Amino acid sequence: MKRLSVVVPCCNEESNVRFFYEEFLKNEAFFRENDLTFELIYVDDGSKDKTLEAIKALRAEDERVSYVSFSRNFGKEAAMYAGLQKASGDYVATMDADLQDPPSLLPELYGYLQEGYDCAATRRVTRKGEPAIRSFFARCFYKMINRYSETEIVDGARDYRLMTRQMVDAVLSVKEYNRFSKGIFSWVGFKTKWVEFENVERLHGETKWSFWKLFRYALDGIFSFTAVPLSLVSGLGVFFCVLAFVMILFVVVRALIFGDPTSGWPSMVCIILLVSGVQMLCLGVLGQYLSKTYMEVKERPLYVIREEE
Ligand code: UDP
Ligand code: MG
Repeated sequence: MKRLSVVVPCCNEESNVRFFYEEFLKNEAFFRENDLTFELIYVDDGSKDKTLEAIKALRAEDERVSYVSFSRNFGKEAAMYAGLQKASGDYVATMDADLQDPPSLLPELYGYLQEGYDCAATRRVTRKGEPAIRSFFARCFYKMINRYSETEIVDGARDYRLMTRQMVDAVLSVKEYNRFSKGIFSWVGFKTKWVEFENVERLHGETKWSFWKLFRYALDGIFSFTAVPLSLVSGLGVFFCVLAFVMILFVVVRALIFGDPTSGWPSMVCIILLVSGVQMLCLGVLGQYLSKTYMEVKERPLYVIREEE
């Protein structure tokens, strides 16, 4: 008998926890036919509502449900990591609690693993129900990161995927603090089958991703998986050096030939402003990498558990 573990990160999902469980159980016939047992691991990521109570109630009814509860909100990345660590199955799936990742897709995903893939992952083909400006920035992000990073990051990829034990162990061995899962899943490699589906709107509650949170997440991705900002900044530096050199030549030659009238105040101020501005920007970029390095060097745990069962 093979075992399937399903990791469900939850942050303020009190009304979705049970719906998810019920929807998931609709696969029971499939599990029986394929000789599969399962465990459902809810990770309560510092919810402020009754999520934990809802999970405990399920746990009391069904032994196959287990949970990890954090001492505060550590973010979805940490929640997924904790779930993957707790998972003991031969196959492990990660999916959202809000039913945006339909559990009815599991049999299909499982089928691909039987065909020899190490991972079956989902991507949505439409961004229906999403603000236009968000889709626009998302597209730009994927274009830029795929151009400059050696790790491919698929546009529209969701965190809904089914993996073999081998791949999960590989993902767990990547212990970095600044986690960008979409990148890590792709970085570990293995044969991945992409399954496309239409975007579904979330069942209850609201998305936890504001535009700025997403923007910062995108920056995380860029700084974790590319060094482009660094080379861009070096390029900029070279460009300004050359420009300054040409200008100095010009000014000196002009002073020698035409004498030195005291003009050029405003342009001087502009140049100083511009150059110092660029320097600040470059320092900022360096600072980004430094702060990431700083967090990694501290080797803090990714999460703190308050209770688990
Ligand atoms: N989530 C979490 N911690 C967070 C934010 C989100 O565990 O800090 C969970 C959330 O409960 C949900 C999943 O991550 O199960 C996806 O979140 P959401 O639906 O808000 O994101 P979206 O689907 O809009 O991308
Ligand atoms: Mg969602």
